[in-house]
Amino acid sequence: MKGNVIFLLLFFGHLYALPDTIRIGGLFHPEDDKQEVAFRYAVERVNADRAVLPRAKLLAQVETISPQDSFHASKRVCHLLRSGVAAIFGPQSAPAAAHVQSICDTMELPHLETRWDYRTRRESCLVNLYPHPAALSRAYVDLVRAWGWKSFTIVYENSDGLVRLQELLKAHGPTELPVSVRQLPDSHDYRPLLKQIKNSAESHIVLDCATERIRDVLQQAQQIGMMSDYHSYLVTSLDLHSVDLEEFKYGGTNITALRLLDPERADVQRVVRDWVYEEARKGRKLQLGHSAKDNMTFIKTETALMYDAVHLFAKALHDLDTSQQIDVRPLSCEAEDTWPHGYSLINYMKIVEMKGLTGVIKFDHQGFRSDFTLDIIELTRDGLQKAGTWNSSEGVNYTRSYGENQKQIVEILQNKTLIVTTILSAPYCMRKEASEKLTGNAQFEGYAIDLIHEISKILGFNYTFKLAPDGRYGSFHRETKEWDGMIRELLEQRADLAIADLTITYDREQVVDFTMPFMNLGISVLYRKPIKQPPNLFSFLSPLSLDVWIYMATAYLGVSVLLFILARFSPYEWDTPRNCLDEPPVLENQFTLLNSLWFTIGSLMQQGSDIAPKAVSTRMVAGMWWFFTLIMISSYTANLAAFLTVERMDSPIESAEDLAKQTKIKYGALKGGSTAAFFRDSNFSTYQRMWSFMESARPTVFTSSNKEGEERVMRGKGSYAYLMESTTIEYVIERNCDLTQVGGMLDSKGYGIAMPPNSPYRTAISGAVLKLQEEGKLHILKTKWWKEKRGGGSCRDETSKSSSTANELGLANVGGVFVVLMGGMGVACVIAVCEFVWKSRKVAVDERKEEASLCSEMASELRSALKCPSGAGGGGVTGGTRDGADSPYLHYGFNTKSQLH
Ligand code: ASP
Repeated sequence: MKGNVIFLLLFFGHLYALPDTIRIGGLFHPEDDKQEVAFRYAVERVNADRAVLPRAKLLAQVETISPQDSFHASKRVCHLLRSGVAAIFGPQSAPAAAHVQSICDTMELPHLETRWDYRTRRESCLVNLYPHPAALSRAYVDLVRAWGWKSFTIVYENSDGLVRLQELLKAHGPTELPVSVRQLPDSHDYRPLLKQIKNSAESHIVLDCATERIRDVLQQAQQIGMMSDYHSYLVTSLDLHSVDLEEFKYGGTNITALRLLDPERADVQRVVRDWVYEEARKGRKLQLGHSAKDNMTFIKTETALMYDAVHLFAKALHDLDTSQQIDVRPLSCEAEDTWPHGYSLINYMKIVEMKGLTGVIKFDHQGFRSDFTLDIIELTRDGLQKAGTWNSSEGVNYTRSYGENQKQIVEILQNKTLIVTTILSAPYCMRKEASEKLTGNAQFEGYAIDLIHEISKILGFNYTFKLAPDGRYGSFHRETKEWDGMIRELLEQRADLAIADLTITYDREQVVDFTMPFMNLGISVLYRKPIKQPPNLFSFLSPLSLDVWIYMATAYLGVSVLLFILARFSPYEWDTPRNCLDEPPVLENQFTLLNSLWFTIGSLMQQGSDIAPKAVSTRMVAGMWWFFTLIMISSYTANLAAFLTVERMDSPIESAEDLAKQTKIKYGALKGGSTAAFFRDSNFSTYQRMWSFMESARPTVFTSSNKEGEERVMRGKGSYAYLMESTTIEYVIERNCDLTQVGGMLDSKGYGIAMPPNSPYRTAISGAVLKLQEEGKLHILKTKWWKEKRGGGSCRDETSKSSSTANELGLANVGGVFVVLMGGMGVACVIAVCEFVWKSRKVAVDERKEEASLCSEMASELRSALKCPSGAGGGGVTGGTRDGADSPYLHYGFNTKSQLH
């Protein structure tokens, strides 16, 4: 059975013989001679290689037509048909091709095209080897997605470009950043358009124009400064390899394109070499380059596709030949004539799978070339290099590793001079103090300057410092929708790096790129140091609070009264006075109210008194009181030492919350800085309140530099506090001993080096920062600029001085005790006078003397009080014996009312 089939195949194989010569027609434009050359060369290759078409030879019949002249084109097609062609190849221009295609459709004659054509229909006689527009468009979408472009500008030449990129436009969602679409002018001056793009700060450009115009566009972009490290171009042409990109190789601009033809493939190179050789041998006028590499630029995608188209045709013809008898006959445009083998041949072409110069040639079920692989090529210092591939099933696949990319970036950095923008802000960047005039980088010194120097040593780049013209860090103005300060310098690509005490914030991170933070910090309050309180005159009262003093006085009175009552109550406290012979006996109680008060005060003052309780109850009272006084006095003494020696500091605020609670002390921050932004954007009610207070304060509480803030705190003498970053506070209080940090940090963030968006150097510089951190260099730099240079450490001496002289008590500390003593003496004198007057009056009244005799009584008493003792050796005269019964002193003694009944 199997043997029979083979026999039949062989039999029919011999039966179906192709004519010896098969004519194929080619329609080409005079200016596109390479298509024709490729066509002729491909025919020669097919005829030379017996394996492709063993029993027939192809005969190329070429017609030259003008691209716009479709009438002439149709006439040439009819001419070709009359001569009996089996297929028509070309032409390349759209209007002419449309006519040719409609004639071929009518005649059912295969028409092979190698151009981008979005009108390709499934049921027509057209076999287009050019990748299908929809698939190509998807490749651009995948690329843009892979790069994460959030916004971009499409620069196109004609409406075909927009059709080519429609998938890209469709894929860009309405919520994403807007995409701009701009058309290249017909004139050859693209600068105005490019300037507009530059002003829009767009750095991602999709360029869709004829391959011949690419170089011009890029050159003009370079002239207006749009070929920097931060610009990325996606060129949609598949022939970028044929453009001379020599002058853009070192600029660092990202230029990427896709290609179908890999000029580095060995088979492609072989074909091109043979081709060049053949052409040279035949002495054909073909402008070829001197080297093989030059010749690669000559072979465009469409040229290679023409070569592949002829091979595809030949292979399909050979396959068809094995199944049917093919004859090729002349056809007339006038007659309604068709070629019976046309459709079969077309179908064969669409099912055949072969490897051509442009990769695997394969058609999908619709007859479109959708299943193809494109190379992703990028411009590097060594020219265009393959960075990866794209195919319809897997999408973008980068073959170059991340490490390789980074290595290349570091190489680019090595010969670069980066412009570094900064602002004068101590200790990050300061003007050097020198007697002669300094210029360039030598003018500046500081932490940031040293840091850049260290990074440049690692990465090998050069740098030039440039101060930001407005001296600001960078904030977004909502009204103008513009950034200022260093951020603006980066966005307008006037600088490559920005270094200062520039905080990494969300808003800034949206528009520029930051490296890893090189310093961590938080917002805190700069305020004047608390003023030393002069010691209080009555500081001896401080160890106990007012409440305790009141309780003590109450306890004293209470205990005294209780003692008095209990003593009266207890029989054991009643005694017969010694030498009292009265009958009935007079009983005496020593705890009169005054004596009780005297007894308790005596023990409270740790002095005791002559009076002692005798009854158990009163002793109990006394014991408990002594216990109380023991504890109270010990506590008082212990606390007194601290109160007398420690200097009292008076600080009205202890934290940012304290600031928020009051309105007397004004507070502000740096204008347009991240500190102000922190309060502006905070959701926390305290900070919101602080922000409204700051905003409404007149005159403004915002400052244009940290230095101004520091001066304002000094000048304010406690009426102004400045919200500042902890690192800068640290620097300030190290030098200005009158200032201090109040409270802790309100947040936690870091300073980073900023660079324009999409900067290729971010990873390399971040790596260098991390390296410096791990080596401890950042710490060394911080110590140098904070604690050593420019007066660092001056406040440290002061603190140690003050702490060593803190323990002597001055009069100011204990003066109050003297005051109390003097006051007590004074009061005692006044009381003595009162007692004297009182008693004299009493004696006068008792003796019913006249009114006038009160004065004489007082005078006589005074006289006797002042009388010098008569006869120093006479045993002395005491008050008790002065004037007999008349003297008030004789009335002292225990009242007879205190008798016990
Ligand atoms: N370092 C801050 C900034 O980057 C300045 C500040 O607000 O204190 O804006």
